[in-house]
Amino acid sequence: MEATILCYHKVGSASEEGRRLNIEPSRLRSHVRFFSRKKFDFLRVGDLSSPWKPGIVCFTFDDAYESTMFHAPQIFDEVGGKATFYAVSNRVGGTSAWDANLARPLANWDVLRSVQSGGHEIGNHTANHIHLDRATASVQLQEVRSAHERLLSEGIQPLSFCYPYGSYNASAVEQVGLVGYKTAVILGKRISQDIDKRLELPRIVVAYSDTLPMLLYKLKVKPLLKRLKTR
Ligand SMILES: [Zn+2]
Repeated sequence: MEATILCYHKVGSASEEGRRLNIEPSRLRSHVRFFSRKKFDFLRVGDLSSPWKPGIVCFTFDDAYESTMFHAPQIFDEVGGKATFYAVSNRVGGTSAWDANLARPLANWDVLRSVQSGGHEIGNHTANHIHLDRATASVQLQEVRSAHERLLSEGIQPLSFCYPYGSYNASAVEQVGLVGYKTAVILGKRISQDIDKRLELPRIVVAYSDTLPMLLYKLKVKPLLKRLKTR
């Protein structure tokens, strides 16, 4: 059994958001409609702690940018699908300062609560968007736990965790489990299998240039070619 977990960041026009870590709303809609036509189950990452059935897709969006939270939920609502948005608790309502000169606005708590009430998941993406693999165990725990508690105090129920930059180590995984998470996502360039550890589920990063045929090539053809090559 497998689960296709896709990783996006911003959703907006190139003129406003640029091309880096962004996708046009119309292109995202073409991806969502494809999986809807194929009758996939649009699950939240938190739902992956239950046994998997065939035909699972999880759309995930890192950082909860204002642009993403404005465009994406309605695209999922059109097909009745759910998605997962990862928020950085100390930056909610501010900007993605870790992007330096490319920092963009992040959605505020009201927006996060309203998206959650639409059935989507708002997950934990740490308190300060740090590289967890470079931090001590106690800082790792602090980043995960304080974000978890802040989200709860703002009326958000995070069901899963997302490692910033996809950077993690065995200790980071342990802290995420200690805070109580059953599912977490990394960047893995492949489709998740149900034998994968639930706190290290790989995702496929979707780029601005990924038209629907390009995305399907990434998901289906590329892994096949790779397997043939290594035979
Ligand atoms: Zn991030």
